[in-house]
Amino acid sequence: MMTKGVDCLANSEVREVAFGGLRCRLQFNPGRAVSASAKVDAKSIAARPCFLCEKNRPAEQRGVDAGGGYVFLCNPMPIFNPHFTVPTLEHQPQRIDTCLPKMLELAERLSGQFTVFYNGPRCGASAPDHLHLQAIPLGATPFEEQLIADVDGFINWSVTGDVSVGLTADPEPPAIVIVGGDRSTMLARVEEVIAKLAEHFPTDPEPMLNALALHTDGLFRVVLFPRASHRPTNFGTDDGQILVSPGLVDMLGLLITPRREDFDKLTGEAVAKIYQEVSRDRQRLIEML
Ligand SMILES: [Zn+2]
Repeated sequence: MMTKGVDCLANSEVREVAFGGLRCRLQFNPGRAVSASAKVDAKSIAARPCFLCEKNRPAEQRGVDAGGGYVFLCNPMPIFNPHFTVPTLEHQPQRIDTCLPKMLELAERLSGQFTVFYNGPRCGASAPDHLHLQAIPLGATPFEEQLIADVDGFINWSVTGDVSVGLTADPEPPAIVIVGGDRSTMLARVEEVIAKLAEHFPTDPEPMLNALALHTDGLFRVVLFPRASHRPTNFGTDDGQILVSPGLVDMLGLLITPRREDFDKLTGEAVAKIYQEVSRDRQRLIEML
């Protein structure tokens, strides 16, 4: 399966689209069709064996200890090479509160090399019942390129100091950026922002979001993409519908299109519309921060 997944990635095609200030890449990767169309309702989840539990994993899928009850696995249908899934050993629900400390710790340990990320249970995670992070090569997406280059005007800061908090300026999608050097101070501040999201945009079981942490040159950068919906309104496999199920990587400007027709047809304007539909309203986020 892994060989097939790596082949799919190696044979994937990439195309750039733009709209206003938005610059995105589309990746045509048929290997991701299962993940993009995964049913994540409680009934479907309960009916399938959990593919992140050790007892159900293929015998040849060996893990490397990631410490603290987590394990590094190679993602069998990667978007990047390498692309790791980092589940807990224990079968427990996908929750940002539980794995946020681990996300920061891993980002620091993998400093300068990997971006560690989290997809919320209704925001792109195809195993919402089993807690997991993912790790991908640092800086490989359009959003991270701007974030790391610290492009002037990319972020409107609301708070500056030991830990700074701000919101990305146009274009879509709006993202909260938190930057600081000390891990425990960062953790406390990120938790505060997530608590604010829970208060302003209450959803069950947690505020809908995608999150990433990366660490370079002694600084953490945590990015939260507050989400309003799981999938765009015209999501589907029928004519005229789009099979794009946005997770963190898609929010970072690398949209995975498992179907050829979406890859060929999607315009920058259509991508901007997808971002607008699945993201929280920018003005409300500015007021919240
Ligand atoms: Zn499991």
